[in-house]
Amino acid sequence: METVWTKYAGHKVDEVMQFSEGYKSFMNASKTERECVESAVSLAKQHGFKELSSFKTLKANDKVYVVNRGKNVCLFIVGKKPLEEGMNILGAHIDSPRIDLKPIPLYESDGLCLFDTHYYGGIKKYQWVAQPMSLHGVVCKKDGTKVTVAIGEQDDDPVIGISDLLIHLAGDQMKKSGSNVVEGEDLNAIIGSIPKKAKKDKEKEEKDPVKANILAILKKEYGIEEDDFLSAELSIVPSGKARDFGLDRSMVMAYGHDDRICAYTSLMAILDCDNPDYTSCCILVDKEEVGSQGNTGMESRFFENTIAEMLALGGEYNDLKLRHALSNSRMLSSDVSAGYDPNYAGAFEAKNAAYLGRGLCFNKYTGARGKSGCNDANAEFVAKIRKVMDKNDVAFQLAELGKVDQGGGGTIAYILANLNMDVIDAGIAVLNMHSCYEIASKVDIYEAYRGYMSFLKDMQ
Ligand code: MN
Ligand code: MN
Repeated sequence: METVWTKYAGHKVDEVMQFSEGYKSFMNASKTERECVESAVSLAKQHGFKELSSFKTLKANDKVYVVNRGKNVCLFIVGKKPLEEGMNILGAHIDSPRIDLKPIPLYESDGLCLFDTHYYGGIKKYQWVAQPMSLHGVVCKKDGTKVTVAIGEQDDDPVIGISDLLIHLAGDQMKKSGSNVVEGEDLNAIIGSIPKKAKKDKEKEEKDPVKANILAILKKEYGIEEDDFLSAELSIVPSGKARDFGLDRSMVMAYGHDDRICAYTSLMAILDCDNPDYTSCCILVDKEEVGSQGNTGMESRFFENTIAEMLALGGEYNDLKLRHALSNSRMLSSDVSAGYDPNYAGAFEAKNAAYLGRGLCFNKYTGARGKSGCNDANAEFVAKIRKVMDKNDVAFQLAELGKVDQGGGGTIAYILANLNMDVIDAGIAVLNMHSCYEIASKVDIYEAYRGYMSFLKDMQ
């Protein structure tokens, strides 16, 4: 099978390998949407982007970013043409499946202290047990201060995790169907086992001494009290680093490719873009894995409000111009695609599957059953996309998400299409989607970046 590796052999493989080094660093520093926003803003500042609120007016080639509640960021490069003529938009999500702590998480049982959890996004729960996990997030205290937590990432950090039943006693468990092998309510992470000792003989024994000891550690290291969990967002995520995968180092294995792989490549594309004809935009959003609702998801008015602000700063705001700016825009809604897996070939239809190593993947539609819930990109728009990709010699493939009636899925595409712009799903094929460690090809990562750059530069 011809892949992009063949095309790049001898002259571009070094560039591909080097680009993936930047990606791996980004991934190791960005295991939650908040951390992704921080990483993105830091890279954006290095590339001359400034916060929208620091501008009094906007002119061509101004580089702008806006952060929404620390979980969602939009970046823009102002184009030579008026905003009313539309933007070229790259969008991706930065939330990934994970295990969240419940509001009242901490308890002790039989000499162990545990966190009670509620999983986030669609997971095969049995994949998330017996793994080294780290704890990330924020604890917001009543005095207005915010404590940031990231435990389990440094080599000498402890890790935590969810236990699984030993095979020797799993007679009943192994008879259960896949979705019940590990039950959602049983995803409790073990976090400690040393009891707090009574200081004096007279002092009463703690009722839950192991929990008391953990609380003492949290108080000492982070200034957190038990009640502070009520206003916290803490997530348990796989603690492993992004690694080269394959004896030939052709792939990357990492937690959260879905969808930080499209977020990073979209981000790098806009950071490396300069002086575009049409205003370039990159949207990195939260909450896609749970339906895109909420003020930091794609359904939020944040994006429209930001475009209104941009028009106002350009001295040309009115509602009609805002409607025009949105409906004249073109968008690549980027999300990972299901990579053809020879171990599970039966789930795919080979002609219309996405293959690792064959370049940027476009999905004309996603959805389930009879394309339910999909944005089906218009053929006219797909033709323009083909033209831009071919002009820039970007390797691409068109694919469906598996066999008809095998399952399905959705992305943020329809939400922007509802604003009447042209949108197509684009992205990178991955294996192991929604497991602790997903796999993608380095050459697809690089080709996606090149495809996104081409779109910002040449789409009209
Ligand atoms: Mn996704
Ligand atoms: Mn997903």
